[in-house]
Amino acid sequence: MKRLLAAALAVTALSTFGQAYPGSRPIAIVVPFAAGGPTDRVARDLAEAMRKTMGGGAHFVVENVGGAGGTIGATKVAKAAPDGHTLLLFHIGMASTPALYRKLQYKPLEDFEYLGLVNEVPMTLIGKPQLPFTTYRDFEAYIRANASKLNLAHAGLGSASHLCGLMWQHAVKLNEAMTTVHFGGTARAMTALVGGQVDVMCDQTTNTTGQIESGRVKAFAVTTPKALSGHRLLKHYPSLQEMGLKDFNLTIWHGLYAPKGTSPAVLTQLNRAMKAALKDPAFIQKQEGLGAMVVTDGRTEPEGHKAFVAAEIVKLKPVIEAAGKFAD
Ligand code: ASP
Repeated sequence: MKRLLAAALAVTALSTFGQAYPGSRPIAIVVPFAAGGPTDRVARDLAEAMRKTMGGGAHFVVENVGGAGGTIGATKVAKAAPDGHTLLLFHIGMASTPALYRKLQYKPLEDFEYLGLVNEVPMTLIGKPQLPFTTYRDFEAYIRANASKLNLAHAGLGSASHLCGLMWQHAVKLNEAMTTVHFGGTARAMTALVGGQVDVMCDQTTNTTGQIESGRVKAFAVTTPKALSGHRLLKHYPSLQEMGLKDFNLTIWHGLYAPKGTSPAVLTQLNRAMKAALKDPAFIQKQEGLGAMVVTDGRTEPEGHKAFVAAEIVKLKPVIEAAGKFAD
């Protein structure tokens, strides 16, 4: 009994004023994109699950700080007090933006504590509902012939939608780039696509599944090497590799971060609550329903998460450089 009590005390961090963390102050999860989009959705579901797994009346709020492909929100967290009350939920942009911005206000591998990877999400290539095609081949032929007249929506340089759009334009060897339209998050871009103000977007399945299902947008392909045969809706769309785009493979991931210097006890408490949340059946069911896979391997540990992001930075640099012509 005594040993159990000591162990419990060891993982209960103390806040600045000696109260048990998190105490009554909320824990803000900064989402560096607009509300209602895929990153926001993961953050809200995770916050709800972590509220349960952290116990002790922990209270989470989601704060949307969109702009510049997620780098404005990430900067805010890098400079926040390392007291466990400001966290960041960021996606692959953590690894793609170093290759796209001349100067970031933070160093991805130095200015954060890594808490763990949350999920992996395929992307879907979608178009406005007015496009008169149903097959990927017709869609590609149309884009090829009309690229300079068409708009591609994305969430800013280095965002997942941007990365996917530039990789795809490069892979199909478009002669001319589409005009890109930047939004503070793909929730807003989606509104423009549904309304027909922009023509094409590539976005996480967590944001597109509902829109495809209700017929508000048209889907043409998924970005994973193979079609998503296990998903009730997305199984109907081919993968870009199956459509002849050799080696096309893009899966988005989301991870949780704290500012550098957060105490080890607080980090341990957060990591444990996060890992328990990733086992919560309600969280898993929501993610899987939207085509996402919850991470269960060693990348849910700080070291595994950091090693993975470091490798992604190395992997994405040449991909982005090769597709650089489509980078804006
Ligand atoms: N899906 C967005 C992106 O393209 C981000 C978001 O709005 O959550 O990066």
